[in-house]
Amino acid sequence: APLAQEESFVGSIDQGTTSTRFLIFNKDGEPVASHQIEFKQFYPQPGWHEHDPTEIIESVNQCIEGAVKAFEQQGHSARSIKAVGITNQRETTVVWDKQTGEPLYNAIVWTDTRHQNLVRKLKARLGAEQLQALCGLPLSTYPSVGKLLWMIENVKEVSAAYEAGNLCFGTVDAWLVYKLNGGPKKNIFVSDPSNASRTMFMNIHTLKYDESLLDFFRFDMNKLNLPEIVRSSHPTAYGKLTTGILSGVSIAGCLGDQSAALVGQKGFSPGRAKNTYGTGCFLLYNVGDKPVISTNGLLTTVAYDFDGKPQYALEGSIAVAGSSIKFLQNNFGFIEGSSQISTLAATVPDNGGVTFVTAFSGLFAPYWMDDARGTIFGITAYTQKGHVARATLEATCFQTKAILDSMQKDSGHALAELAVDGGMTNSDLCMQTQADLIGIPVERPRMLETTALGAAIAAGFAVGVWETFDELKNVNTTGVTTFTPKIDADERNKKFARWEKAVKMCKGWAED
Ligand code: ADP
Repeated sequence: APLAQEESFVGSIDQGTTSTRFLIFNKDGEPVASHQIEFKQFYPQPGWHEHDPTEIIESVNQCIEGAVKAFEQQGHSARSIKAVGITNQRETTVVWDKQTGEPLYNAIVWTDTRHQNLVRKLKARLGAEQLQALCGLPLSTYPSVGKLLWMIENVKEVSAAYEAGNLCFGTVDAWLVYKLNGGPKKNIFVSDPSNASRTMFMNIHTLKYDESLLDFFRFDMNKLNLPEIVRSSHPTAYGKLTTGILSGVSIAGCLGDQSAALVGQKGFSPGRAKNTYGTGCFLLYNVGDKPVISTNGLLTTVAYDFDGKPQYALEGSIAVAGSSIKFLQNNFGFIEGSSQISTLAATVPDNGGVTFVTAFSGLFAPYWMDDARGTIFGITAYTQKGHVARATLEATCFQTKAILDSMQKDSGHALAELAVDGGMTNSDLCMQTQADLIGIPVERPRMLETTALGAAIAAGFAVGVWETFDELKNVNTTGVTTFTPKIDADERNKKFARWEKAVKMCKGWAED
């Protein structure tokens, strides 16, 4: 008799800002096993934020071992994992030596603002205003390029490697693929367009490195080694895992975390959007097969490229979201864990007149104020912790509202509902506040690991676990919670006007 067909599974490495995870998904998009590790955050000076690239690799390997063991304990075989996808924190910049394959400095995290002065000088350089039309991003501390320039200017080992032609630059995806393939021996040095589009080196129209961009930043292409840009879903280009329990399994998908979440929410057609509330908060709106350059403070990014037909998105990025809750926990001691934020906020009926602009590393979309810093307005003798807790949640919701307004202006369409995911969406109070402040329903799937699912989909697509976009309609469909707006337009506009006033007032605080 023929053997019963073995069920297929796909693994997903989700390398986020605060933690690394490995999840194993079945064909219905359900996670059947997972493992998560929080890793160390380095804040050596105000505005600086680093990760140890070696610790990141170790956390990935440990998560794979942990999840696969749990998977096997359920009676599954590791052989049924057909491929592995990677999704990662974007913009975070890793440099390593071409010969040794070892990092030359800590990774500079996307939130880092140490190079604020460098960016200010770049903005004054001839041609700066033409960059966004070419690469989709305005100059700010956010993309990788400024972090790389800072390292070349300030770290001896990095400039020496650059001068010798030994400097490899990569975003976290490129670093992971390189190391998981065994480093310099195999030298698999690649990145996908959704990650490469965050460096400011890639032409958003051609998905190739652009000489005029590299010239603007005065890079010598004979000295700098950049990863080759390959499709987000590819059976061979990303190589294979070379060690551990899944040694030999292909890495077949690669997506920046926000692109992965859009895929995981199945935002495959123009007009679909998702908002992910993690460490930061990122709204991506699918605009189809042609890039739309924003005139209202949004970024243009590659959503994904599965088959040589890249799809684009307009993006609104918020630097601080869930990290503001961690801040109330770690710096102010208001709570003992993120999940207590809702209870604390519910101790008061409203924000009591408090507005908190959580501009810890300036404000991103749509304001782009590198020189803003966190500011709490409206403190009186009446103010309680609960008011600050509410104001903290509202800060992310107000910025989401500002981004949606910009998106409507850029695209000419108003969103009918907002699909959400990410750690902070666990808070019902926060999601109700969000619906109130944007005036459209907010829809939260039961399975919130959409980022990891997106990478699994990219990988599964490459190896035939899923074959058509149509098939993916049946993935992760169960259990949506809908939050509907409970305040009227008048009240909404009044609240938003106060927020915008507060934003104006915190501008320039970080100016020397
Ligand atoms: P990332 O991928 O950026 O590391 P996650 O999607 O894992 O982020 O989300 C982590 C964030 O979610 C944390 O900053 C945390 O403060 C927030 N968070 C987690 N659980 C809750 C909760 N129950 N209520 C509100 N926020 C939460």
